[in-house]
Amino acid sequence: MKTGKTFIISGPSGVGKSTVLRELLRDRDDLYFSISATTRTPREGEIDGVHYHFINVDQFREMIQEDEFLEYAEYVGNFYGTPKRYVDEAMAQGKDVILDIEVQGALQVIGKRPDTVRIFIAPPSWDALEQRLTGRGTDSPEKIQKRLVRAKVELQTADTYDYFVINDTVENAVREINAIMLAEHCRPSERMEILQ
Ligand code: 5GP
Repeated sequence: MKTGKTFIISGPSGVGKSTVLRELLRDRDDLYFSISATTRTPREGEIDGVHYHFINVDQFREMIQEDEFLEYAEYVGNFYGTPKRYVDEAMAQGKDVILDIEVQGALQVIGKRPDTVRIFIAPPSWDALEQRLTGRGTDSPEKIQKRLVRAKVELQTADTYDYFVINDTVENAVREINAIMLAEHCRPSERMEILQ
């Protein structure tokens, strides 16, 4: 059986990635969303094991030591990491995998697995991002400021990605990501086996 492909989705905090990914995943059972481990405290409405595996710093360190992460990074004072095992299991089942990770983690994955496809999601404007982060009301003003500083840096790395999607509407962003995934599966390297 064919193995699945891994797609990294990066983009600044507040760009609306979660909403886009939720829509993307809704209609596709051949797509696996990798649930990260994090030391961040849950936001209101976030469920352990659904949005993240919420763990403490000691547990996170233990996972690093046991080599359980495909990648991990620090982001605005907290750790985030992708558990390797579930990603590999999903791919072995022929599923495509989505990693919602920031740019440092994306670089680590590319180092280990160069055939991973990287998609950057950007806001339609800087103002729109600022408004979203402020209006969300989930972070302190200090945290929001830190996330905005980080967002500026992340936007500068966007041209190293394979694809650039602008989240002007969720519908457009989902349509473009689906198109990218479909196109990636039409590459000769994915299909030549039928001639063998
Ligand atoms: P948030 O705290 O807003 O949920 O996430 C903050 C940032 O961490 C986002 O850019 C998100 O993509 C990223 N992130 C979430 N999970 C992971 C992970 O497993 N690894 C890395 N490197 N970044 C992650």
